Amino acid sequence: MVDSNVPTPTPARPVERGDLAKLRATVAAYCTPEATALIERAYAFAAAAHAGKQRCSGDPYIIHPIGAAQQLAEMRLDATIIAAGLLHDVVEDAGIPIARVRERFGEDIAFLVDGVTKIGTVRLHGEQRYIENLRKMFVAMAQDIRVIIIKFCDRIHNLETLTYVPEHKRLRIAQESLEIHAPIANRLGMMEIKTQLEDLAFPFIAPDDAAWVNTLIAETYDERRAQCTALRTTLTELLTQGGIRIIGTSARMKGKYSLYKKLQLHERDITRIYDIVALRVIIEDITTCYAVLSAIHQHWKPVRGRIKDYIANPKMNGYHSIHTTVVTDDGAYVEFQIRTPQMHEEAEWGAAAAWRYHERGTYHAPNKQVAWVDSLIHWQRSVDDPHDFLAGLKTEVFRDRILLFTPRGDVIDLPEGATPLDFAYQIHTDVGNRTIGARVNGHAALHPLDRPLNSGDIVEIITDPKRKGPSQDWLHIVRTTHARSKIKEALRVQLRHHAAR
Ligand code: MN
Repeated sequence: MVDSNVPTPTPARPVERGDLAKLRATVAAYCTPEATALIERAYAFAAAAHAGKQRCSGDPYIIHPIGAAQQLAEMRLDATIIAAGLLHDVVEDAGIPIARVRERFGEDIAFLVDGVTKIGTVRLHGEQRYIENLRKMFVAMAQDIRVIIIKFCDRIHNLETLTYVPEHKRLRIAQESLEIHAPIANRLGMMEIKTQLEDLAFPFIAPDDAAWVNTLIAETYDERRAQCTALRTTLTELLTQGGIRIIGTSARMKGKYSLYKKLQLHERDITRIYDIVALRVIIEDITTCYAVLSAIHQHWKPVRGRIKDYIANPKMNGYHSIHTTVVTDDGAYVEFQIRTPQMHEEAEWGAAAAWRYHERGTYHAPNKQVAWVDSLIHWQRSVDDPHDFLAGLKTEVFRDRILLFTPRGDVIDLPEGATPLDFAYQIHTDVGNRTIGARVNGHAALHPLDRPLNSGDIVEIITDPKRKGPSQDWLHIVRTTHARSKIKEALRVQLRHHAAR
């Protein structure tokens, strides 16, 4: 909660984001003259539209669209998106009819501006507002993912200048960013954007905790960075000897909010967090990824249970890489992340990667939709109770997924926190209804039906053909909407049988 005794956090990056000269320089580094001309035209139009208007900071309004466009340009996105970013507030905040934008800039840019405008206008309160916001975001995403990318960059600039916004609005904007924007960015695989949204919102949500994390980071990051440099040297020697060419390495510092969430899971003990710093190794192809993994394990001792092959088993948001944590020569834990250039690009930018310019000067024709968004829209239409909608979203969308196995080796994917009952219903409704127990990873002792499973578990469901059906309290145990609806269905049938007798 925001406490008025706590000093207002200063913006993480000062208002320099709204600097026109900087935007021009960023654009010039990768755009063609035609692309640059379009961006200049959009800037001139937006500057005229917002002339005389001010931000809460007292700065001219135009610094805000410039700031959003700067973020888009730093992602090396195409000129259409950057132009739309510059124009994103001319309808809502300057009262320019969308028809004029269409006239001047064409159908595509007008469509994007209209989409961003529609998401912006939510006039409700509390949970209703939250749900309405989400629905609008999903509808926009289903139409064109670029609308959401612009919305994220709009939001990032608003967070960067949030200190100037009246106090009663600050908390709401920061909360929305953490609860709506960041999880969606995560689900779209846009990790760079997700981290920025979270780290900018964090000090406004929990000032004391944010200050504490800052102190922790100041104490440990330098030391960690030095470790990484040393490791990098050893690794380069190791791989060169093995005839492996490294394309690039970099040390990745964990985001502040993400570190904070992890600390909460581990009694606030930073020594128990192994991936504060990760060393990324980028090499040619997938075969080489496994060769690098093997070279690392031959030199350093891997930590049991910390090898994650997201190439064989990608995360639901499309993340590919191999992770392994090793004990270094001086006893520290360091995580390696091994990937190809394409995996790296997609890990940083996710759904936005398709619109990025590349050094080759080309960019691949993108798919405007993302498959899971489609399925989400479909599912959303089938849920009419807003509470079910929200509860469903919290598990189906905003949680990470885990991969589980049947004893025969079939893969079942479920949201994190799923229990053996969710697993049973995923296999078949009859299996779910007749479940009496579960055995995990071949252990003799039964796994309690209400205890969550872990990714990689092999789950054997024990059924009893004589079992009549689910019990009422299973509704509190299951995590998936699928299992819940099947249990409700079976309970209704049981009830009817009773009534008939
Ligand atoms: Mn805006």
